[in-house]
Amino acid sequence: MSAISLYVHVPFCAARCPYCDFATAPATSRLRSRYLDALATEIGREGAALDRPSVRTLYVGGGTPSLIEPDEIASLAGALRDAFDLALEEATVEANPATLDRARLLAWRALGITRVSLGAQSLNTAGLRALGRTHQAEDTAAAVDAIRSLGLAVSLDLIFGWPGQTAEAWRADLGGAIALQPDHLSCYPLELNLEPEEAVANWPGAGWESVRRWRADAGAAQVDDEGMARLYRIAERTLQAAGYRHYEIANWARRGSECRHNLVYWRNGEWLGVGAGAHSHLAGARSRRPGALTAYLEMIDADAPRIADPLADDEADTAMLALRLDEGLDLVEYAGRFGDPAVARRRAALAESVALGLVRLDHDVARLTPRGRLLASEVFVRLLPDDDVATRSSVLAAT
Ligand code: SF4
Repeated sequence: MSAISLYVHVPFCAARCPYCDFATAPATSRLRSRYLDALATEIGREGAALDRPSVRTLYVGGGTPSLIEPDEIASLAGALRDAFDLALEEATVEANPATLDRARLLAWRALGITRVSLGAQSLNTAGLRALGRTHQAEDTAAAVDAIRSLGLAVSLDLIFGWPGQTAEAWRADLGGAIALQPDHLSCYPLELNLEPEEAVANWPGAGWESVRRWRADAGAAQVDDEGMARLYRIAERTLQAAGYRHYEIANWARRGSECRHNLVYWRNGEWLGVGAGAHSHLAGARSRRPGALTAYLEMIDADAPRIADPLADDEADTAMLALRLDEGLDLVEYAGRFGDPAVARRRAALAESVALGLVRLDHDVARLTPRGRLLASEVFVRLLPDDDVATRSSVLAAT
């Protein structure tokens, strides 16, 4: 098989941030070593099933992979090298500013990591408190220095729209982030999902109800949609002025520092995801592992296949994902992949968005307009087949 991209999920976190709906689990979980063993088993099986393919991009996400110990990182590296031909052009690990040290960074670099995605979220003490984060504002600069000292690229994640955040506070966060000179930035609106997730079961104690209450209170204290749109526009203007290209709805990069791994997702390429809650897209089919650790462990013990995504529609998914990018949806290329009838369907589905000023058609390339970037879900909904629209959108958001 040709080269693939590989996603590895390490779910463990020092604490649970109340807004987060990723597949996470406590770092102290009694299931931690069983999970890492199961992950190695899954890696070995998948590598054998795919005939030890070449891996061009690797993304180790979570959770907080930066908090696992150097010996755990070395075991993971051994499993990956045995199962795959690691011809890495880019390899990213996600990190929390408070749980990154030189010994761990060296272990990640020995695995082949080339960039670190740092969950800064805010550089403002009030912002970090409002988000329920446990790290301190000053941890981010120290973490950036540590990453840079080892020659690794830096991406910073920021969240806007936290309760009480003003436009001035957001400008200050962006200015502080730019001053750290990251190669790449991701800016996400604070979105508060009020539906319980599978990973709730991984966290003992207060459970879903306290999380739901926190989210309801935080949501009530957020700015409205117009306020969120204003914050987004501030990010667009500020980051463009600082030399960052807005290459995807929520992502900005210096030229040449775009995230190659995530570009594979947005171009709906081939990737394998291993670990709890990980999604895969191989040979045109989407599938996933469950986010609850016990369900994941049972599945690996039983050597059960990944759960197929019954709502997957490769044609619609490819169009929606391409529109997230500034390069847009090239309908000639799309015809080569899915045929002329599929292009005719997409053109018809885009016509209304073009009329609403959300999409611009430039010869055979469709792109979101600035207004379309703010209202992208309006465009995507019109591209979906008649299945459960909300479910499909959330599956794509998770990739
Ligand atoms: S936001 Fe990051 S650190 Fe917080 S619970 Fe989610 S994955 Fe863990």
